[in-house]
Amino acid sequence: MNKIKVAILGMVHQKGLDFLRQKDFEVFEVKNFEPEYLKEKLEFVDGILLRTSKLDKNILKNCSKLKIISRHGVGYDNVDADYLNQKKIALGITSKSNAVSVAEHVMTFFMYLTKNLSTSDKLVRDGNFKKKSELPDFFELYEKKVLIFGFGRIGKEVAKRCHGFGMKVYVYDPFLDNNVIEEHNCIPTGKKEGLSLADYITIHLPLNEDTKNFISKTEFNVMKKNSIVINTSRGGIINEIDLYQALNEKMIKSAGIDVFESEPPDPNHPFFKLENILLTPHNAALTLECRMRMSQEAAENIYFYLKEKNKLNYENLVNKNYL
Ligand code: NAD
Repeated sequence: MNKIKVAILGMVHQKGLDFLRQKDFEVFEVKNFEPEYLKEKLEFVDGILLRTSKLDKNILKNCSKLKIISRHGVGYDNVDADYLNQKKIALGITSKSNAVSVAEHVMTFFMYLTKNLSTSDKLVRDGNFKKKSELPDFFELYEKKVLIFGFGRIGKEVAKRCHGFGMKVYVYDPFLDNNVIEEHNCIPTGKKEGLSLADYITIHLPLNEDTKNFISKTEFNVMKKNSIVINTSRGGIINEIDLYQALNEKMIKSAGIDVFESEPPDPNHPFFKLENILLTPHNAALTLECRMRMSQEAAENIYFYLKEKNKLNYENLVNKNYL
C-alpha cells in the first residue's frame, strides 16, 4: 500500500518529522521554494507542513492529492486560504505552541529599549565604569501604561507578564466583550484614547485588509513622545515609512520590530540608519522549546486529521466550517 506522503517546507525541529515517520508516513524535506520546483515536488503529497514560504493558487492547483496544510505557527497569510476553502483542503495552525515565546520576546524588547543595556555594557567594556551617572536616564516598567492591540493567545500572555511588572494594562480588541478584557484585570480602551495614554504599545493582530497600515502617520501623531512601539505580529500592520519618520523625528522614543513588510528586509532599508530601533529577524517564536512544540503540534494536526479525527484539536483547524 502507498504510504501517506508529507512534504516539510522549510526547516523545522526533528520532533515532528520523527513523529510522522513513526506513524509510517513518508516524509521528505523541501528547501527550494521556487514555484516551478514546488509545483513538481508537491504534486502527489497528501499533506504539507509549512513554515513561511508562500503557497499561492498557482502552486496549490497542481497539488492533486493535497488534503491538509499544517502551518508551523499561527499566522497563515502566506497561504491562499480562499483556494483551500473552495477545494475543501484543511488548514491547520499550532495554536498552543508559540504564545509564551512571543510574549517573552515582547518583554525583552520592553526591557532592552528601557534600560540602556547596550550603552551600559559598552561603558563597562570601555573602562568607563565610573561614568555611569552620565548615561541618559533609564526607567522602570512599574506603573507604566501598556496598550495591547489584539487580545488573543499572545496578547493575553503579554498582559500576564506586564501585570507581573506592575504595569497598567490597556487593551484594544473590539471583537471581544469588555467583560473578557476586564476578567483578565485589563482596561478596555478605544484605539485613539489608548494610543494617547500609552508608554508602551504592542501589536498582536492578524494581518488582513482591516489591519494593513493599522499604525501609520495618524496614529504616530497621537502617541506620547516617550512611547515605545513593538511589533511582533506581521509586517505591514505598521506602515514602515511612517515609523521611520516618527523615529527619525523623535515623535516617539523607540521601536522593537520582529516582522517586516518584506522579509528579509532590503539591505538599504531606512530602519538600518536609525539608532532608536531594535530589530530581530522574525524569530520571536524560535526558542528551542517553541520550535519543538510547533513541530510536534503541526505534525499532529496532519496525522490526526488524516488518521484519527476524533483526537484532532479542532481549534487548530482554521477552515473547519468549509470542510
Ligand atoms: P489570535 O488570533 O489569538 O489573536 C488575534 C486577536 O486580534 C483576536 O483577539 C482578535 O479579536 C483581534 N483582532 C483582530 N482584528 C482586530 C482589529 N482590527 N482590531 C483589534 N483587534 C483585532 O492571534 P495570536 O496567536 O495572538 O497572534 C497574533 C499575531 O502574532 C498574528 O499576526 C500572528 O501571525 C503573529 N505571530 C508572530 C510570531 C512571530 O514569530 N513574530 C509568532 C506567532 C504569531
